[in-house]
Amino acid sequence: MQSQRVSRSEAPPAATVRTSVRIPLQFSDGYRTDAQVFTFEGLVDGQEHLAMGLGPYREAAVPLVRLHSECLTGDVFGSARCDCGPQLRDAAEQITNVGGYLIYLRQEGRGIGLYNKLDAYALQDKGLNTYEANEALGLPSDARDYTAAAQILHALEAPEIRLLSNNPDKAVQLGRNGITVRDKVPTGVFVTASNLRYLQTKVSVTGHGIVLNPAA
Ligand SMILES: [Zn+2]
Repeated sequence: MQSQRVSRSEAPPAATVRTSVRIPLQFSDGYRTDAQVFTFEGLVDGQEHLAMGLGPYREAAVPLVRLHSECLTGDVFGSARCDCGPQLRDAAEQITNVGGYLIYLRQEGRGIGLYNKLDAYALQDKGLNTYEANEALGLPSDARDYTAAAQILHALEAPEIRLLSNNPDKAVQLGRNGITVRDKVPTGVFVTASNLRYLQTKVSVTGHGIVLNPAA
């Protein structure tokens, strides 16, 4: 009985919507969508995370949700060292099509920050994989915490979602924070010569549910 009590999921501290504003988006390939951007008060980590309502997000009975962790080099500059830019672009379209939220989390470099991420890239160029490089720098391999994302979903009155993700940890963390993940929808996989090793490591180290075509 006691252990059941401890493992039961509970809602995190309440956050509230601070501002909601319409922003038309246009991606580098020309794809356009309108985002209703929400900001929040009371997020546990004090970061300026965003939620974007896309497509018929108010009408969706169970909204499609992507938790995207900020990646300056991939999202803004189109870095080919990771697949964040194409993942973000793909998520925007998939969510727009059915209605839901793109939650943009300001946890750069899996939570270690931009400079540390670039230090880790330098070590990767010497042969370490993305997780080994973080360890060599004395940093956690993945410092991301999705409590604030759960707070955001509660604030948006979306306690039941379909999760657009290949990362098993996101669904587990949301579940612990009172969010019901009804369904997991896989994201696209975007392989380039520069990010193949990074993607292979995601599969072998953290159990990402993606299939890589070695010929790609
Ligand atoms: Zn990235």
